Amino acid sequence: MKKPDDDPLRAANSSPRCTARSKRTGLPCKAPAVNGWTVCRMHGARGGSKPGPAHPNYKHGGRTKEAEELRKAVNAMAREAREHAA
Ligand SMILES: [Zn+2]
Repeated sequence: MKKPDDDPLRAANSSPRCTARSKRTGLPCKAPAVNGWTVCRMHGARGGSKPGPAHPNYKHGGRTKEAEELRKAVNAMAREAREHAA
């Protein structure tokens, strides 16, 4: 006789569920959520592109998060210098 804890289907059925709701019926999705996510594979878990040079639209690096932050910092310093000079 099998113990209830040995049943793989029981473990699968008790896994966390997707939190998405149907647009039409308003009912919950009920599909198992992807590990580390609150939604299932059909509702947006995983996917997306890698950041930086690995991104398919990467051209020259002038629009990376680091470059944008550096530009903002330089512009803020220039603004401050202008305000002090006037
Ligand atoms: Zn789902």
